[in-house]
Amino acid sequence: MPPVLYIVVPCYNEEKVLPLTSPMFLKKLLDLASAGKISRESRILFVNDGSKDGTWKLISSLAGLNPHFAGISLSRNRGHQNALLAGLMHAKDLCDVTISIDCDGQDDIDAMDRMIDAYLDGADIVYGVRSDRKSDTFFKRTTAQGFYKFLNLMGAEVVYNHADYRLMSSRALKEFAKFREVNIFLRGMVPMVGFKSTSVYYERHERLAGKSHYPLKKMLALAFNGITSLSIKPIRIITCFGFLVAAVSVIGIIWSVIMGILQSPTGGWASTVSIMCFLGGIQLLSLGVIGEYVGKIYLETKARPRYIISEVTGEPGGQTKEEPGKENEPGKE
Ligand code: UDP
Ligand code: MG
Repeated sequence: MPPVLYIVVPCYNEEKVLPLTSPMFLKKLLDLASAGKISRESRILFVNDGSKDGTWKLISSLAGLNPHFAGISLSRNRGHQNALLAGLMHAKDLCDVTISIDCDGQDDIDAMDRMIDAYLDGADIVYGVRSDRKSDTFFKRTTAQGFYKFLNLMGAEVVYNHADYRLMSSRALKEFAKFREVNIFLRGMVPMVGFKSTSVYYERHERLAGKSHYPLKKMLALAFNGITSLSIKPIRIITCFGFLVAAVSVIGIIWSVIMGILQSPTGGWASTVSIMCFLGGIQLLSLGVIGEYVGKIYLETKARPRYIISEVTGEPGGQTKEEPGKENEPGKE
């Protein structure tokens, strides 16, 4: 029996691009099914992340027209990572394997063939890795590459140039469901699941329509969240810096004492003030970094649901149905 594939596609205000990309996803699904690589029960699962435009209406009508389309709608906008998690957790019990992909046509869907081949060869996780960044602006390319390098430097191990275009088997997803944290950074967490994994390389295109939801501010927030949810290296760096400053201070004290004994005290308030300002700045920065981790603990202890599914459409054998208040209580996903 060929495996049942669910292509999980998060969508936020994407009414412009969905009519262009949904037929592409469908064609790919049908081609894979005709080649006997996946089951005809396979589906494209759209996750409406609390869109304010007609995205959900569009998803519902697609699901009404073709049984290969299905959708879930979140009760409000929760951000790309949570939307993707909602889709994957929903799909894991309905299929054998999932592929997550953005809905804007940037990721080359032909890489799915190679992903499925790798899965059929025994891989549980297949990372889609961008072979180059020709389609990016100079700014996006530089910031994105800096982002991966900085993440790795800070101790967050991520696959270089891999975003969230990846294949995961339901076995890997069921293990992943045990990761209960609310600060999620999927591309850094998935490698922790382990299992046999591999990468396929593809070229990333321009967005087919609509505009990016990741301006610099959100990119920085994602990077910061990635580092603090995966690594405590920044706190270690603060500790090391503390040691360094303490060591330099000891040398400074010894030097001042010797100079005092030799009757040639060192003068100059400018140097004193600059050192004070420098240390004051470092202290505030360090407090900020530590505060960031304390904030994370605060959010984790509350353990609020990461998403709430309000509606489902095109489920196997089902009509569009409303599920008010269905949420991912611990242990329920
Ligand atoms: N997205 C989402 N929720 C959000 C923002 C984005 O589900 O709050 C989806 C969006 O519809 C798209 C994917 O996440 O399918 C990636 O977003 P985008 O293309 O805007 O990011 P970029 O490719 O520019 O980094
Ligand atoms: Mg995009």
